[in-house]
Amino acid sequence: MASQTCQAYSEVIETTRFAPSPTGFLHLGHVYAAAFARKHGDRMLLRHEDIDATRVRPEYYAAIEDDLAWLGINWDGPVRRQSGHFDDYRAALKKLADLGVTYPCFCTRAEIVAEVSRAGEAPHGPEGPIYPGTCRGMSKFERIARMDRGLPYAVRLDVESALARVGPLTWHDRGLGRQTATPEKFCDVVIARKETPASYHLCVVVDDHLQGVTLVTRAEDLTSSTHVQRLLQDLLGIEPPSYFHHRLLLAPDGKKLSKRDHAETVRSLRAAGMSPAEVLQLALGDLG
Ligand code: GLU
Repeated sequence: MASQTCQAYSEVIETTRFAPSPTGFLHLGHVYAAAFARKHGDRMLLRHEDIDATRVRPEYYAAIEDDLAWLGINWDGPVRRQSGHFDDYRAALKKLADLGVTYPCFCTRAEIVAEVSRAGEAPHGPEGPIYPGTCRGMSKFERIARMDRGLPYAVRLDVESALARVGPLTWHDRGLGRQTATPEKFCDVVIARKETPASYHLCVVVDDHLQGVTLVTRAEDLTSSTHVQRLLQDLLGIEPPSYFHHRLLLAPDGKKLSKRDHAETVRSLRAAGMSPAEVLQLALGDLG
């Protein structure tokens, strides 16, 4: 009896999250991701990933929440907006800087592309062409001189130095099984920008931890991010969650659904007279 009681208490309450960016209306790919998170979480949190002020529009926050409610996909607890938590990201960034695993990078995107193509084949990572490490070896004197001149810079993670500080990196993936993280394949990713003291990777790692997320569900095109995020978790002393990367819903032409290509939105399907059940069926097919 006693052991049964212990068993019941030790059951994990799985906390997942749905984390859209309020830069457009939800499309069917989002519906799939939200329903997947809901299905696998005892609790499902909603988080607006809104650090890119140039792309966020105020009306999309309410539209996302309204579309989810219309679909019957409910969430638990308060909604988190990343833009309200820059202090959390600054603190994590400082921790990384104190470890000596970051450096300022003054390269423009065009300079990086030119540098990569000069080197022959241009390998690509999760954030475009892989950064060739141009500013990694810059002297302290030169860095300070450039900062004093007000030159804009991003903060990059020195992945090689970072890897030297942690043990082997793995994660448990419910879909793919045990995975080994190889962040070195993505080179020195950006973890903060001058105008925004944070980046996608840093915010996600900090938020998932602070929000008590136990299972990160997201589309398989974000698997590459997990390699980098596992490294950040170990550097910051954060216990990693489990992961479940699900299939990516594609448009009928086989391309990725995206806001930029004006993928069909829940809004437009609603306006065309579809019911929530029909929209869910369209997005989920056999997910159930
Ligand atoms: N905000 C990301 C997106 O809209 C999702 C990030 C994540 O799930 O880690 O694609």
